[in-house]
Amino acid sequence: MEVNCSWVREDMVLRGQEFVMPQSFFHRFTGNQTELITNLIFPGRDKVLTLSTKLALLILLYCNTATDVALVGGGNNPQPGEISLAHNGVLFLDELPEFKRTVLEVMRQPLEDRVVTISRAKFSVEYPASFMLVASMNPCPCGYFNHPEKECVCAPGVVQKYLNRISGPLLDRIDLHVEVTPVPFSELSNQQLAESSNNIRERVINARLIQTKRFNSDSGIYCNAQMRSSDIKTYCKLSEAGNTLLKTAMEKLGLSARAYDRILKVGRTIADLEASENIMPNHIAEAIQYRSLDRDGWAA
Ligand SMILES: [Zn+2]
Repeated sequence: MEVNCSWVREDMVLRGQEFVMPQSFFHRFTGNQTELITNLIFPGRDKVLTLSTKLALLILLYCNTATDVALVGGGNNPQPGEISLAHNGVLFLDELPEFKRTVLEVMRQPLEDRVVTISRAKFSVEYPASFMLVASMNPCPCGYFNHPEKECVCAPGVVQKYLNRISGPLLDRIDLHVEVTPVPFSELSNQQLAESSNNIRERVINARLIQTKRFNSDSGIYCNAQMRSSDIKTYCKLSEAGNTLLKTAMEKLGLSARAYDRILKVGRTIADLEASENIMPNHIAEAIQYRSLDRDGWAA
């Protein structure tokens, strides 16, 4: 998984053990800016806001006791929430299932529309909210579900209850679901086969250039993640083989219409990362893999 493709702006949820710590993620995410980012890991609003301006409005919300007003905005005298402060930047939610479900649910509309509307009796205000959502979670409360060597000690039903804290409709709106499994030491120490971060970075920069050119004439969007349904129809055409593959996956995995659009968008991005003009069947196959959490029988 090219975590660096996060720069291409797709929303994502990372599910895995302890190494999915924000520090390690942001290390990948920003390369040599780790030190700055590590400062962001610790709660301290002033620090976050000051640094955010330097880092293209990178905003981190670490506190899972956040209220829905803090997250999406509101109040008697409406104020923007974290999602608007993270406009054109990143909103990182660590330990996603620890947030109150009602708090997370209010993000559904802004994730779709990229704006948030706060209505009051006599007026309504609209704040921009085009942010990239990155969320992390454990596989289960004990942390070892699906672990290759250690055993999960959660009681029956506990894993499902934990997953149910995040609704299917919310998950549906997240482009990439990434199951992060532990890497054996032998693979960690074998650097030969891995593509270097610098190479991946080059490809990501190139993909962003391709996207900038693609949407040059459209003032509303500048990357694949922001495509509307009509744009998806224009820019995400598949070959017959790609169509058949996607149709089969939709039926087999019971994916929603929203997941269908997400797969096409992510497929377009994967093709851009390979500088491929057309979306090939292997790009679609990879995009389908990133819907892994749709298959776990998520809560309705
Ligand atoms: Zn467990």
